[in-house]
Amino acid sequence: MIMATLASFNNTNKIQWCPGCGDFAILLAMKNAIASSGLEPHQVCVSSGVGCGSKLPHYIKTYGFEGLHGRSLPPATAIKLSNHELTVLAVGGDGDGYGIGLGHFLHTCRRNIDITYIVQNNQIYGLTTGQTSPTSEKGTKTRSTPHGVIELPVNPISLAISAGASFVARGFSGDLKHLSELIKLGMAHKGFALIDVFQPCVTYNKVNTFQFFQQRCYKLQDQQGGWDTTDKIGAIAKAEEWGEKIPIGIFYQQKRPTYEDELPQLSKVPLVRQPIDNIDITKLMDEFY
Ligand code: SF4
Repeated sequence: MIMATLASFNNTNKIQWCPGCGDFAILLAMKNAIASSGLEPHQVCVSSGVGCGSKLPHYIKTYGFEGLHGRSLPPATAIKLSNHELTVLAVGGDGDGYGIGLGHFLHTCRRNIDITYIVQNNQIYGLTTGQTSPTSEKGTKTRSTPHGVIELPVNPISLAISAGASFVARGFSGDLKHLSELIKLGMAHKGFALIDVFQPCVTYNKVNTFQFFQQRCYKLQDQQGGWDTTDKIGAIAKAEEWGEKIPIGIFYQQKRPTYEDELPQLSKVPLVRQPIDNIDITKLMDEFY
């Protein structure tokens, strides 16, 4: 059997991102992670919403779905429940996932469905030319807030842990090797995995640049004494660290049954392979008349 390589996930679609955008590294890290997990293109599906980064399913040769703004997770959930043998990833920006899609995000965390969610967090709305996003820091001047952002930013790490996500990590698109490894670990994890990724928008965010993160990011797992990923309260407290030093890596991981594990209908074969021609839906249809 011939194993898929990185090139197996390339297609010929023209990439529309600005030169230097952090999304290029995220795309490559996803291909690295999928190929090194031994998966074939037909075993993977990538779902997205709307935004610069949400164009990603067009640029990777797997199954893909680009839906509505903030709605990458509901289709990803449906895809996983229809065929739980597929490896399902969802991608989208911070505006998509932590703004309009916040409700879906919280409920997917608590459901613990086996999806890996990669958030391209550039702390701004890129596609619509540089407005404040839910993760823009207080005081940041953008086109929609010329006097500076008034609200506090959303903290996706502590939010995800509190809501019940069972794998919560943060990467940086300026560290491809580390990011590829995080995505691979997130995919191997049984349950909902959030990987929030610092993805500098080189066109509209002149504050949170590659240099900004290169100077500040350090790896949790490399610090003296390592990091206990089972310490939930410690992980929530660590998520508050922001300033001269910013932690990346796996904050929290928990083993618990997935949503699919708890559905008896999925215990034998995926729904897509279950016969439907012997099911009588007449009684059900009668209820609609
Ligand atoms: Fe990337 Fe920003 Fe350009 Fe969008 S606007 S493609 S996020 S650099």
